[in-house]
Amino acid sequence: MRLRYHWKWTILIFFLLLLLLIIQGYSHTALKQSLFLSSLIGLLVVVPSAYLIARTLSQPIYDLTRRMIQSVSDYFKPESASYGGDDLDKLSKAIDEIAIRFRNKIDEVSKERDYLQTIFKGMAEGVLVVDERGRILVANHALRQLLHLPTSVANRTALEIIRNAELEEAIRNVIRQENSTSLELNLPLPLGKTFEVNVVPIMPSPEEMEKGAEGVRGAIAVFHDITRLKELEKVRQDFVANVSHELRTPLTTIKGYAETLLEGALREEVAAQFVKIIKRHADRLTKIVEDLLTLSKIESKEFQLKSEDVLVIEIIDDAVDFVKEAAEKKAISIRKNDISPLLSVHADRGYLEHVLINLLDNAIKYGREGGQIIISAIVGGPGEIRVSIGDNGPGIPKEDLPRIFERFYRVDRGRSRELGGTGLGLSIVKHLVQAHGGRVWAESQFGEGSTFYFTLPE
Ligand code: ADP
Repeated sequence: MRLRYHWKWTILIFFLLLLLLIIQGYSHTALKQSLFLSSLIGLLVVVPSAYLIARTLSQPIYDLTRRMIQSVSDYFKPESASYGGDDLDKLSKAIDEIAIRFRNKIDEVSKERDYLQTIFKGMAEGVLVVDERGRILVANHALRQLLHLPTSVANRTALEIIRNAELEEAIRNVIRQENSTSLELNLPLPLGKTFEVNVVPIMPSPEEMEKGAEGVRGAIAVFHDITRLKELEKVRQDFVANVSHELRTPLTTIKGYAETLLEGALREEVAAQFVKIIKRHADRLTKIVEDLLTLSKIESKEFQLKSEDVLVIEIIDDAVDFVKEAAEKKAISIRKNDISPLLSVHADRGYLEHVLINLLDNAIKYGREGGQIIISAIVGGPGEIRVSIGDNGPGIPKEDLPRIFERFYRVDRGRSRELGGTGLGLSIVKHLVQAHGGRVWAESQFGEGSTFYFTLPE
C-alpha cells in the first residue's frame, strides 16, 4: 500500500473541485442550485477534515522516518544516509538498511565471539574473568582442569574456589587501583602446583568511554603453570650444590695432604702413603668429571647414537669380560640365563656395553662376597627385548628404590664413596636406555638382592 500525502496537492485538488462545482453551478438550473450548495458545504467540511486526518496520521511516520535515518547515520556511520522518495519510501529504505547492517554486525560479532571462544578453549593457560565485584564471570577449560575446579564457578569469588588469600587480594587490588599485577601462586598438596598469575583490569572500551562510562569492568587473571619449570630449577640448584659438594671433598683432601707434605712430611716415611691418598682422590675427581661430561654429552642436542643390529649375547659377553677380574676378586659368579644366540637389538654397540658394564659393576660392588649375578635377555613384549641383571646382594630399601636413578643419589653415601662410586652411574644408564627408546627400572627385596631391568627395541 502506498499512502501518498502532500498538503500542496491537497489544496490544489480542493480548489480545482471548487472551480468545477462553480462552473457546474452556473450551467445548471436553479433547481440544482440547492444540490450545488449542499455539495459545496460538504466539500468545505470533508476536505479540511481529510487533510487534518491525513496530517495526523502522516506526522508520526514522518518523525519515525527522520529518527530512523538519524540512527542509521549515527550508529553505523554511513557515508551518506540520505534516501530519496516520499516518507514511507524513506522509511522502508531506512529499515532495509538497518536490517542489512544489523545482520552484518551480528555476523561480525558472532565471528569474533567464535574466534575468542576457540582461543579461550584452546589456551594451555588458565583464564579467570571476574566482574567489578570480584565475582567470577567465567573460567576456561584449562583453568578448571589445572585447579580441578567444579564445572559451575560463576558468581563465586576466586577465594571461594581457589582458597588463596594472596590471589584474592591481587584481584581486588587490580579492580581498585586499575593497575596490572603478577604473582607467584603456590598451591599446596594435594594439588602441589606453582603458577605465575598475571592479573589485568578490564577497562571500558573507547566507545563506552566516549559515552561517559568510567571505572573498571572487572579483571582477567591468566594462570601459567610453572610447576615443571620450578622443579627443573630445583633440580639444577641441587645439581650445582651436589657437584660442588662432590668436588670439594677430594679437593680438600688433596690440598690438606699436599700442604702437610710441603710443611716437611715430604722427607718422612708417611710421604709415600700421603702421595697415594692424593692420587686416589685425584682419580676420584677425574671419575666424577668424566661421568659429568658423559651425562652432559648424552643430554646435549647434538648427541646421536650409532645404532645397528647387534647380537645381545655378543655385547653381554664383552661386558662380562670387562668386569671378570673385579668379580673374581669378590668370588662372585656371573651366570647367563638361557640367552638365545639369535636375539638381536637395534642399538649403539658402545653405549649398550656401557649400560651393561655399569649395572654389572654395581652388582659386583654392592653384591656380597661369594655371591651370584644372573644375566638374562628375553623378548619382553612386541618388538621389545628385556635384559635383566640380578644379584643376591644386600638389596635396596623400598623407599630408596624410586630415587636411585637420580644424579648423585646413593643409598649409603659413605659406602659408595669407599667403593669409588660417583652416584652418577645409574643416571647415565637411565639416559642411555631412554636415548635408545627403552625403559629402565629396578626391583629389590631388601636383604635378598636386587634386579635391574632395561628394555630395548628389537
Ligand atoms: P654409585 O656410583 O654410587 O654406584 P650409581 O648411580 O651407580 O652410583 O648407584 C646409585 C646407588 O644405588 C648406589 O650408591 C647404591 O646405593 C645403589 N645401588 C646401585 N646398584 C645396586 C645394587 N646392585 N645393589 C644394591 N644397591 C645398589
